Amino acid sequence: MHNLSNLLEDSARKHPERDALVLGSTRLTYGQVDAAASQVADLLVDRGIRPGDKVAVMCPNLPQFSIVYYGILKAGAVVVPLNVLLKGREVAYHLDDSDSKALFAFQGTAELPIGVEAKAGFDQAEGCADLFLITADPQAPSPIDGMQTLGHAMADRPTTFATAATDEDDTAVILYTSGTTGQPKGAELRHRNMRDNAMAGRELFGCDEDRPDTYLCVLPLFHSFGQTVIQNGAFAFGGTIVMLPRFEPAPAIEAMLRESVTVFAGVPTMYWGLLGALDSDTDVQTLGKNLRIAIAGGSALPVEIHREVEKRFGVSIAEGYGLSETSPVASFAPLGAPPRPGSIGKPIPGVEMTLIEPDSWTEIMWAPDAVGEITIKGHNVMKGYYQRPEATAAVLNSDGWFRTGDLARRDEDGYYYIVDRTKDLIIRGGFNVYPREIEEVLITHPGISLAAVVGVPHDSHGEEIKAFVILEPGASLTESDLIAWAKEQMAAYKYPRIVELVPSLPMTATGKILKRELTRTGSTSSTPP
Ligand code: AMP
Repeated sequence: MHNLSNLLEDSARKHPERDALVLGSTRLTYGQVDAAASQVADLLVDRGIRPGDKVAVMCPNLPQFSIVYYGILKAGAVVVPLNVLLKGREVAYHLDDSDSKALFAFQGTAELPIGVEAKAGFDQAEGCADLFLITADPQAPSPIDGMQTLGHAMADRPTTFATAATDEDDTAVILYTSGTTGQPKGAELRHRNMRDNAMAGRELFGCDEDRPDTYLCVLPLFHSFGQTVIQNGAFAFGGTIVMLPRFEPAPAIEAMLRESVTVFAGVPTMYWGLLGALDSDTDVQTLGKNLRIAIAGGSALPVEIHREVEKRFGVSIAEGYGLSETSPVASFAPLGAPPRPGSIGKPIPGVEMTLIEPDSWTEIMWAPDAVGEITIKGHNVMKGYYQRPEATAAVLNSDGWFRTGDLARRDEDGYYYIVDRTKDLIIRGGFNVYPREIEEVLITHPGISLAAVVGVPHDSHGEEIKAFVILEPGASLTESDLIAWAKEQMAAYKYPRIVELVPSLPMTATGKILKRELTRTGSTSSTPP
């Protein structure tokens, strides 16, 4: 079977005229995208990049991201996608840590000013020999025509390239993640990890190249969710990707309607944003009719939001779960099964999941309410953290089981329910409190739009429970109203003693709520009893 590097060229051979990437009014066919990726591969080989070398990419969701990604793979090299929000010093860290030999960075416009930070990081990094600044000439008819790299012409390069042979156990991608603890580490993902996870779209979502899907790409492509479920998934089945450089609810809805999008994948905060942007003019019926599948993942989808989206859009949401270290998909709601809000579904084909005692590798005694740490084994599990044998040994055992740091329970039918992350667990006065459970209750209040709960240090209780709350537009509630209400809903050890009303919540570039940031800013000031 072919490797990850062959997904694009296989589709280009079979469907050269089919649209692969769409950005605004620009449409690029599979033939064009594959030809441009070949030019990138040719440039890299010309610059001395050899199979196994690492090449970093820092680019928002633009056609250039996919072109460079597959160009690197064609050359037999390893892609190191970098978060576009990284600052110069962080870029340098990632380039050094991954031993990247070159960096492709989008030069940026006033709107997407990425090149400056990337260049600063490149200047600080050791051993990274080539900086290819991707520029998109605004006068050029398409981003590919306008794609140049600093000092190295692209346009004259050959548009065919014999993809370097790779073994399926070779590393294809190094994805940076903080894992459960500590500084960012590079999860080394083999060709077969990434390829098989993308190919799982057939069983999970019924993808078929004879009935190609149109995907809306709003998840950042530097993250595993967007990369596997959207980019590689679409290329594996000859689908069309409609790109938006960043997620904004109204343009996302507009693009879904314009392009008759059939697959939408988003993190919960995106679904929340879409709900807020639907107004009476939105053609929700058309949206729902075209959408074949709505996928949620990346963090817990609150049950209330899940139900609301299904009601308003008229589509059922398939929630999945995974991590950068698992390529990322590990579990999903089985295709066609009635949705079970709050559940992350069951392990996908080729993947096993168990629950273990958090401090050992011992499987827990199963009971419907027994909580354990999820461990995963299967086609999707990474090789390890790049050049970090100790960090790898802490999470990956010799039988191939990977421990996730996520706590869950499993019901009689084998469906898993995430309770929380081990590190988000709040211990207040000796009681274990799961923030997610409290968030799920808070969001049922008609005046609350979104809530995030964290533990903040406290002198006598060790930790105190604090809720950051965004109110529904027009709601006039005070902090003490909400505390009093929460007190009636939950056991005494669980309800938040501190509530802070906020206009927004800090989020990662992938749209996950940044709990660490909230914990840092959370006040420990006097708390009601
Ligand atoms: P990342 O490596 O950035 O993809 O983050 C992986 C983490 O996201 C997991 O360890 C989980 O804590 C969280 N996560 C992913 N999907 C879900 C989900 N459906 N429900 C709850 N948490 C999730």
